[in-house]
Amino acid sequence: MSGQGSFENPYEDYTSTPQNNILNDPRNGISDVLQKKISNFKATKLQILTTKLQRDVFCDGTVYTGSAGLALYYTYNSLANKNEPCHDALQATLEYLDILNLKGRRISFLCGDAGPLAIATVISYKLGTRRSNSLPDYKELGQRLMQLISILEDSPDEVLYGKSGYLFALLFTNKHISGKEVIPSYHIEKVINSIISSGKRLSLHMKADSPLLWQWHDKVYLGAAHGMAGILYVLLQARNYIKGNDLRAFVKPTIDWLLGSRFQTGNFPSSLGSSSGDRLVQWCHGAPGFVSLCLAAYQAFDDEKYLKIANQCGEVIWQRGLCTKGYSLCHGVSGNAYAFLQLYQATKKPIHLYRACCFMEWCAVERPGTELHRPDRPASLFEGLLGRIFLAEDITRPIDSKFPAFCL
Ligand SMILES: [Zn+2]
Repeated sequence: MSGQGSFENPYEDYTSTPQNNILNDPRNGISDVLQKKISNFKATKLQILTTKLQRDVFCDGTVYTGSAGLALYYTYNSLANKNEPCHDALQATLEYLDILNLKGRRISFLCGDAGPLAIATVISYKLGTRRSNSLPDYKELGQRLMQLISILEDSPDEVLYGKSGYLFALLFTNKHISGKEVIPSYHIEKVINSIISSGKRLSLHMKADSPLLWQWHDKVYLGAAHGMAGILYVLLQARNYIKGNDLRAFVKPTIDWLLGSRFQTGNFPSSLGSSSGDRLVQWCHGAPGFVSLCLAAYQAFDDEKYLKIANQCGEVIWQRGLCTKGYSLCHGVSGNAYAFLQLYQATKKPIHLYRACCFMEWCAVERPGTELHRPDRPASLFEGLLGRIFLAEDITRPIDSKFPAFCL
């Protein structure tokens, strides 16, 4: 183990001479050897997931811990064939969406009703006249998704349970039903304004240097799951709906302030004034969740400094990203692999794809003692096995891969 929280990285780093059978020859995809290993892993584990772990898949209906995570996986797979989505597969996906029994308590894509509703809306639209009678029309489902706005002001701002997780669901729906504006702009703008207003309020209240500040459970979290990096990243993905002045005078300076909170090592604290030190390198807390934000800021503001920080996050993840906690998307190695895939998409440099593949390889081979924290939900997308399966699927299409439920 190297320091707290991570195993020493046993992989040789990327060099331009052929090595390790990890990448293919043009270095824009994975090698046949690794491809085979990953395919076997995926087939075996998916089999276990849908048989032995079936009960755990249905422990709840959410994307984060429950059956909608598997629905999301099948939906992405069906849509990957852009010209002709596989209708039978989409129909079968409905088995994993329990939209009749939604609780109406939480608003977000990951842990609330918005995830299952947004996925069902997209499936209903794609099936068109082929949908079964038990599945409502996509417009009706879109309406139900919009009605969740009634709990907006009682929700926190963060991604996992809150408003920015709802915003993601709205963007997701419109993205996959293009040209129809199922969710009208005014609705999306209302959500954005609510997030920005509470950011301004807390900043004023705390007399902060950052023009926007958000908290969750009385703490200003900085990372992707509960904190500022996640909220800002979803806002940047929604930037076409944000007024130019809000973007320049509030969002951008908030990002700059946030990036200024970096440790010397290049990693990020999990919360403001955190005393736990430079410990966590995982999507939910620490550098991995900041890669998406920095790359989106680089795209939005065309400033190289953001790309530079994203690259530095990549170095931190390469050194310290083989988490001892395990393989999960949320706080483990598969989530960290996605940071490399995003860097690869932005730069097209094979080093990032190579590093993603090494982390994938780590996730695909059972090594005793590498998952020191047994997940509470061993089948789930964000804590369990499905996260690794998602990565195994995505890494075969590195340019199109998306961190599920976070990147559009
Ligand atoms: Zn986590």
